[in-house]
Parts: sequence; C-alpha cells; structure tokens
Amino acid sequence: MSERSVEILIIGSGPAGLAAALYAGRALVKPVVLERMSVGGLVLSTDWIDNYPGFPDGIGGPELMERMHQQAQRFGAEFVTDEALSLARTENGFDVSTAGGNTFHAAAVIVATGAVPKVLPVKEEAKFRGKGISYCATCDAAFFRDRPVAVIGGGGSAVEEGLVLARGSSKVTMVFPTEALQAEPVLVQQLVSLPNVELLPSAAPSAVEGGEAVERLRVRLATGGEASLDVAGIFVAMEFVPTGELLKGLVDVDAHGYIVAPESTETGVPGLYVAGDVRRKSLKQIVTAVADGAVAAQRAGMFARSRKGKGAPQPTI
Ligand SMILES: Cc1cc2nc3c(=O)[nH]c(=O)nc-3n(C[C@H](O)[C@H](O)[C@H](O)COP(=O)(O)OP(=O)(O)OC[C@H]3O[C@@H](n4cnc5c(N)ncnc54)[C@H](O)[C@@H]3O)c2cc1C
Repeated sequence: MSERSVEILIIGSGPAGLAAALYAGRALVKPVVLERMSVGGLVLSTDWIDNYPGFPDGIGGPELMERMHQQAQRFGAEFVTDEALSLARTENGFDVSTAGGNTFHAAAVIVATGAVPKVLPVKEEAKFRGKGISYCATCDAAFFRDRPVAVIGGGGSAVEEGLVLARGSSKVTMVFPTEALQAEPVLVQQLVSLPNVELLPSAAPSAVEGGEAVERLRVRLATGGEASLDVAGIFVAMEFVPTGELLKGLVDVDAHGYIVAPESTETGVPGLYVAGDVRRKSLKQIVTAVADGAVAAQRAGMFARSRKGKGAPQPTI
C-alpha cells in the first residue's frame, strides 16, 4: 500500500504503452507504467509478426515486445505490476487507485489498455489458436494463400477481413448468425461480388477439427442440422471488447465501448490521453498503436511540463 506522485502515468504496456513510455522518457518526463499482466500486451500471444516495419524476415511477437520494453527502460521508464481500478480527476491532475491498494497522483495519464478479441466459442479454440485459428487477417492472410478459409462474424470487421482474405485465399466462406451481413452496403457489395466468396448465414461455429492444424470447421445451422467446411484457416471477427472501463463517465465512448478521441489522442479532459486499440480507429495494429503512444506522450509531456509549479503532482521518487 503506498501513495506516490508521478508526472505521467501510463496504464497498459502493450505497444501503445511502451511507445508512450519511450517517448515520455526521451522527453525527460519520467513515466511510470502500470501493467496488470505481462509487459507486452496482446502481441505476446502472437507467434510471429511479419508486418512491423524494420524486420524484413519478421520477428517473434514476444521478442518485439521485449525489445520495446528494454528500449523504454533505457530512457528511464519504470514498470509496476498492478491493475488500475479507478481513475478520478482531482484539482491538480488525476488519482489512480490500483488492485494492489496503491494510489498514484499523476499530472497526466495515458490510457493504453487495449482491446481483447472475443474468442471463438468452441472448446478446440486454445488447441488451434495460431495453428489455423487467427484473429487478424491483415496479419495472417499471407499464410493462407491459395487455401480455403472461413470468416466468423457478420459485422463490418468481418466483411473487411473477408475482403483481405479473398485477395489470396482460394475460397472464403463467411459464417454469421444473422440472415444478412451487417456492414456498410458498399463493402458488402464488393465482397459478395467476388467469385471466391460464399455466404453461410444463420450459422454458428460448433467445432474445429484437425491434426496439428485446422482442417475442418463444423457449423450449426439455424434451420437445424450441421454443415462441415474443409478449411485451413478460421478468421474470427466477432468484435473486440475494448478495455476502457476506467474512463466511462469521464470521456466519450462509442456504442462498442471504444474511446472516441482524435489522432491527437486528447480526450477533451485536459491531461488525459488515450492510445492504441482502446481508441476508436479504423486500423488496429502494432504500427498504429505505437504511433498513438508517441503522440500521446508528446502531448502529455507538454501538459505535465506546463503544469509544473502550478500545483500539479511532482515525482516523489
Ligand atoms: C491474434 C492476434 C494477432 C495479431 N497480429 C498482429 C500482427 O501480426 N501485426 C500487427 O501489427 N498487429 C497484430 N495484432 C494487433 C495488435 O496486437 C494490437 O493492435 C496491439 O497489441 C494493440 O496495442 P495496445 O497497446 O493498444 O493494446 P494491447 O496490446 O492490448 O495492450 C494493452 C495492455 O494493457 C493492459 N491493461 C489493460 N487494462 C489494464 C488496467 N486496468 N491496468 C493495468 N494494465 C491494463 C493489458 O494487460 C495489456 O497488456 C494482432 C492481434 C491479435 C489478437
């Protein structure tokens, strides 16, 4: 149990939080990063990253995150394992209370808590994740060139995943629970006009089969009975669950729970910034998360400096 004052508190240590920590450290505003699990965020569950610039042969997700972690530490970022439970505005900044019973008084806060994908609701999910089950077509489509795949979901992101996959996969079957795809008509039109795309409406996944990797998807049909699809890949696009609960009531949140903030990452509350997947945006990737983190740190640094000597919390360590 402790109370501490810090200039910049960063909540979350995925790519957005790590980039924010690096940029804040280099601006000589010593950041403290709170992380409830392991440093690295969602990327830790991704075996191989092929689309992060600077690594022509790709790089393992955990290795990339460890490099970002070390780089942020080199410029003075401090990492604390704890979960932020609440965030409140105070006269001079923000108070953040944690599961470990600590309270941080911060001049500026960057919320980089990410979003968690809804997992495929079948018992084989863990066995085949990374072995045919993927949550990101932009990241993994290249592994399924000239092979048949299924997309699970019927919303905007599912349709976008379908469009990406249809460029290279031999066949894309869209499996969704509703009668029609629920996305922008122009995108739906584009998708359904492709010769290698098939729709399987009113259907839900029931099992995944295969040896070392995915070979088949079984689906339950609303009309009764089952269908079996021979696929090498299953792309799950059943929405992400944003983790911005801390900010509810303080800032604008969209219908899906994402924080609405412009590219400046400013929330409208002075001193409070959102970076990475928790912010509503069209492309949720490492490269966009680190960009947000850098922008947020620059803004937060300027804010914290402008508040120096005006009652804002100053570092107590
Ligand atoms: C299976 C999969 C594969 C992917 N592959 C790629 C790829 O190949 N290339 C690519 O560019 N992108 C890929 N992505 C997307 C990429 O992982 C995300 O865009 C990126 O991780 C977002 O970074 P972030 O920092 O915003 O959030 P996250 O990485 O989700 O990190 C958020 C962190 O905040 C922590 N946190 C949350 N709440 C709290 C709290 N209250 N207190 C303290 N800590 C908290 C979490 O524990 C987590 O560590 C993939 C995503 C998935 C799901």
